[in-house]
Amino acid sequence: MAGIYLHIPFCKTRCTYCDFYSNTDELLMDTFVEKLCAEARIRKDEISESIKTIYFGGGTPSQLKQMHFEQIFDTLFSEFSVDENVEITLETNPDDLSPEYIKMLVTFPFNRLSIGIQSFDERELKFLSRRHSAQQAIKAVKNAQQAGFNNISIDLMYGLPGQTLDIWQKNLQQTIDLNVQHVSAYHLIYEEDTKMYSLLQAGKINPVDEQTSTEMFSMLINQLTANNGFIHYEISNFGKLNYFSRHNSSYWLGEKYIGLGAAAHSFDGDNRSWNVSSLTQYINTFERVTEKLVITEKYNEFIFTGLRTIWGVDLPKLKNTFGEKFHTFCLKNAQKYIDNHLVEIKGDILKLSHEGIFISDGIMSDLMWVE
Ligand code: SF4
Repeated sequence: MAGIYLHIPFCKTRCTYCDFYSNTDELLMDTFVEKLCAEARIRKDEISESIKTIYFGGGTPSQLKQMHFEQIFDTLFSEFSVDENVEITLETNPDDLSPEYIKMLVTFPFNRLSIGIQSFDERELKFLSRRHSAQQAIKAVKNAQQAGFNNISIDLMYGLPGQTLDIWQKNLQQTIDLNVQHVSAYHLIYEEDTKMYSLLQAGKINPVDEQTSTEMFSMLINQLTANNGFIHYEISNFGKLNYFSRHNSSYWLGEKYIGLGAAAHSFDGDNRSWNVSSLTQYINTFERVTEKLVITEKYNEFIFTGLRTIWGVDLPKLKNTFGEKFHTFCLKNAQKYIDNHLVEIKGDILKLSHEGIFISDGIMSDLMWVE
């Protein structure tokens, strides 16, 4: 199984919390798309397997126009062997999803939309500097559903300064009412080099306390999984049966993918590479840094990604791939968590228990190999 990730590094405006690479200079968009297609042609031989997932991420890929999608799809379908059941996701912003834009999208082979809603609360949307209103978000989902999209994911954010459990509960209820197939929900992180981080440093905002964060995470799991058909398949991701993100699941399962576009990452099973995080440098040079993973890095990724998901860590695979030393290390360090019912072993699989999910970071770091 292999995938293609396309990083579309354009946003109309920048959100205060975001540290993803993107640029607001739309004038470079036509040239960027030409270069992206050129990169696909140059790198096509890196992937010989058939492509099972294509993911347009960013940035804001819903800033692209019809002619851009035409160019990109023509290139991908002519240069790669694309599986007939390929999952093709477009990340979108709600304010881009007008009926006209959606009408254009359905002429392309997209079969999954990921909509960056973050909140249905006007005060929170303003605080995050999102461009859309709650009503626009609801309308965007309904417009997409009416146009025939039946695999829709919503992004939500919690743990915002001033956010109460009541507001979070309303956000979740609105999400459930929209009858979408997938939800990705992330706690606000104060990333360095963001406006939000500066506000925090300047004492202008109060982060939520740990207890409230935990209660919000607990509410998220309970609301989505109890009677609403969602399966909690990765720490931050919930999908209805047969609607897990195949693209993101392939990252967590260590599959190969090729990343095209400025700031895109690639993984070929042994090496990770990063395209330069600068639009102009990307356009001029396609600069890319490649790093060969050593065995401890591979082991750490195997543990980290396994523990984040319902698939857990496959112990026989761990032993076969990394040897007795790493297998013993993992089990020895997991023992205290097993004794406290925070980690469990079922058959050949080691995974977090329901309680363990709440302290997953600490457990993962204890199972990591540090030189
Ligand atoms: S959150 Fe999305 S829309 Fe906002 S700046 Fe980041 S990539 Fe752009």
